Amino acid sequence: MSAFPQRLIDGYRAFTTQRLPIEQSRYRALSERGQSPETMVVGCCDSRVSPEVIFDARPGELFVVRNIANLVPVYQPDASAHGISAALEFGVEVLKVKHIVILGHAQCSGISAIINKAAPLSSGDFIGRWMAMVIKPGEVIEQREGETRKEFATRIEKTAVFRSIENLMTFPFVQRSVESGHLRLHGAYFGIAEGSLYALDRESKEFRRVEGNSLV
Ligand SMILES: [Zn+2]
Repeated sequence: MSAFPQRLIDGYRAFTTQRLPIEQSRYRALSERGQSPETMVVGCCDSRVSPEVIFDARPGELFVVRNIANLVPVYQPDASAHGISAALEFGVEVLKVKHIVILGHAQCSGISAIINKAAPLSSGDFIGRWMAMVIKPGEVIEQREGETRKEFATRIEKTAVFRSIENLMTFPFVQRSVESGHLRLHGAYFGIAEGSLYALDRESKEFRRVEGNSLV
């Protein structure tokens, strides 16, 4: 058997000496009564965009599912196994979360693959098929006149957040919970270099920067 990564052993040691003593009673309580997070986050697998780190979350606070480019597929009640849909069903139907946050981010490799039509994107591989859901049937993703490459990428990264929110509403249990007022859907966008966070204003369809304890 190959050696367990030393970095993880060192990290676990740091956890047991620093964070665990602070959180021990919380872990015990969560173990006894189970989890009841109020917020579900759909984020990207990107190692720089950890929801627990960005939102300074404690154990039991966030129910997180991560995939390439923080995408929610449309509701497909077929015979296939759907990991994201199963997580959504558990979050909404069992845990009864009050919020679902789609967390997009800058410099997303999945989005970069689709706008550059470059490796690892191809119609035959997993990433190609997965990322295709960003584009609506008949829609073409193209750089606009006067738009820089970076602005183009940012626009499509934000489009992916909109698309996921739209697709969330195709799930009957999500729609039911939203309409009954129990569940609210949110979009957010994380700027890696500055650690900046933008929250989607659903009315203006614009992302507004979160500063201090409010939006600006
Ligand atoms: Zn990403």
